[in-house]
Order: sequence, then C-alpha cells, then structure tokens
Amino acid sequence: MEPSNQLDPEPGDPEPGDPEPGDPEPGDPEPGEPELLEVDPLLVARWLAEESPLRIIDVREAVELVSGILPGAIHIPLGELAMKGSMGLESAAGDCVQRQEPVLVYCHLGIRSRQAMTWLRNHGFEHCHSLGGGIEQWVSAGLSLSAGPGSEGLEAEQLERYARHLTIPEVGVKGQKKLLASSVLVVGGGGLGSPAALYLAAAGVGRITIADDDVVEPSNLQRQILYRSDEIGQSKAKVAARTLSALNPTIRIDALDERVTAANGRQLIRDHDVVIDGADNFETRFLINDLAVEERTPVVHGSVFRFEGQATVFDPARGGPCLRCLHPQPPPEGFCASCAEAGVLGVMPGIIGTIQAAEAIKWMLGQGVSMRGKLLIIDILNGVFRQISIPVDPLCTTCSQY
Ligand SMILES: [Zn+2]
Repeated sequence: MEPSNQLDPEPGDPEPGDPEPGDPEPGDPEPGEPELLEVDPLLVARWLAEESPLRIIDVREAVELVSGILPGAIHIPLGELAMKGSMGLESAAGDCVQRQEPVLVYCHLGIRSRQAMTWLRNHGFEHCHSLGGGIEQWVSAGLSLSAGPGSEGLEAEQLERYARHLTIPEVGVKGQKKLLASSVLVVGGGGLGSPAALYLAAAGVGRITIADDDVVEPSNLQRQILYRSDEIGQSKAKVAARTLSALNPTIRIDALDERVTAANGRQLIRDHDVVIDGADNFETRFLINDLAVEERTPVVHGSVFRFEGQATVFDPARGGPCLRCLHPQPPPEGFCASCAEAGVLGVMPGIIGTIQAAEAIKWMLGQGVSMRGKLLIIDILNGVFRQISIPVDPLCTTCSQY
C-alpha cells in the first residue's frame, strides 16, 4: 500500500460525465483551495469526457506500454523527464507540452508519477497532477485503456488478459500472437491433462482439443482438477471443454468424446502443432508416438507413479529421441500396475502436467531449451529432482526411418 496525499475534491466517488457546480477543472483550483496534486481516476475520466484541456504523459518504461495506455497519452519515461524538462517537454514522437498547460502524469501504481509531478512542478509546470494509484487504479475503476504502441494485432481485452505475458521479453506481443495462432491436442483429460489444459487455455493457446472417452468418477476428483463433484457421471471431454471455455472464452476448445485410435489419431495429430500425452494406457501412448513421429509433431510426455513423476519432449523431427528409443515396446499386459492399482499422490500429476504445459508453450514460442533428449525425474517424497539424457536409438524401429 503506498501512502496517499490525495486531496479528494469531494467525499465519495464522482461518476464520469456527471459534473457538478464547483467541481475542479484540470489546472484550475478552486479559489482558496490548494490545487489537487494526486487525482482520482474517475475525476480524470470526467475531465476527459468534458474534453477539458489536459496533456497526459505516461512516464512508464516503453515495455510497459504494450498492455495499454490512457486515451491520448504521450510517452516520456521518468528517466527522460530531467533531460527534456529544461527545454520544454517533448516526447520521442514529437509531441510538445508547454509549461502553462494542465498536465496529468501517470505510471503503473502512482509512485513514479508522483516523482515526475514533483519534478515538473519544480520546473515550472504549475498545473501538473499525478494519477493516484496509477493505471492499476484506472483499470480497477472500470475505465478503459487505448492500445499501447507495439500492441498491434491484439485487442484491448487480450492486452489486459495477457498483460503479464506481454512484459516478458521471451513472450511479448509477438509470442502471445504465436500462442493464439497455435493448437494443442491434449490426449487424456485425466490427472496430467487437467492441469496442462487449464494452463494452456489460460495462456491463450488459440485452439485446444481435449480427447477423452471417460466419464467423471468420484475417484478422479483427488487429482483431476478440471472436474467437480457435481459433474460426476458426465463426459470428461465435454465438462473439460466447458470449464476451459469458462476460463478463457476467447479461444477455441474442441471436446472429443472418443478414444484416440489408429483410425482417428493421424488426422488429429496432423491438425495440431503439439501433442500433450496424458494417456492412461500404454497402447495409446505408443500409438500417439508412432503417428506423431510420422507427422513430425512433438509429443510432450508425462507420467506419474505414487510420489514420482517423469516428463520429457519426444521430437525426433528436430533431433531428439522418441518413446520407442526409451522403451522399444509397450510392457506386456499386466506387467505394470495401473494408476488405480499403484495409486498416485494427487499433486504429482499436477506438477508433471504443468511442466508439460510449460514445455508445450516453450515449443510454440520457440524459446528456451527444450527437454528434448532429457528425462526429468521427480521424486517428491524425497524432494529430489534429476535429469538424465535419453539418447536417440539409431536402430529405433519408429524414428530411425524418418
Ligand atoms: Zn525412436
């Protein structure tokens, strides 16, 4: 909480577009009243609605502007004010602000803009105000922003939704647009698919298909966080699509209420950029592997067993091994205990599924170091994380042919 020296003109919150006699104008204090220093967003909105003369200066860094600016704002970062002020204020875009003009400065939270206001007032800008609470308070008050420079191609709603992505250099507007243009096939809406799909939807992956032919069962709820108690008995794929759409209605979610098979698998994989393998059986896992190798589509693999989990990326088309390089054949039936028999700590698929989502996002962005060729092994009971190399098997029956 930052200290406030706000001098509110009136008790209560004034509504924009609702002027009353005696309301302050920008740079025009009431006789006998001290001039406002920090002003409330709703008061500024009213000034704008009344088209009062007001020069608005955004003093944030350039990278922060992408998530939106106040309507009509010009950009002069705080650090540049001192250099520009002695000659009159001019933005990089050539907008010039005179000393006698009413000025509003703002930043993210209202701290830097208060410094800017003090500096400007000391340098002859007598009618300078700072936006109390900054752009955060502006947005919280339900006021809209204009598109910031560099935000081309993203709409205001997207700029707000993905604001925390846009200031990461590895994502930014360019990366967010890549995610929005990408598609992921999530095979299995279970313990792994649930967190993976939730994070992919939240991240703004433009199209997600979730394939599962099961219904929600009571024993799923200990770890399959897409589902709630009142959804027991319903189709997992359909419930998942509903939940994911509620989280992010701006992307496309397709529910496939079927098993991925040899008959439908190839086309499904071909229609998506990345596959998340959250299948609960070896037959499906090997089928996905073989088809994805042929289609040159990366498969982000994850598996869990009690307190342990594993994750990697199978991407032979870009130089890594495939599942059959690690395990040439599925284990004989009955050889491995299933999740139901062995049990699993509920958070374990949460950890691994989230790592799968992160690897898929990195792949779509083309950023970072892929876990291709590396198997991450997590033993959460002992708090041990380790990574081993998985070599490409030159004699692999599947990927050596491609
Ligand atoms: Zn292979």
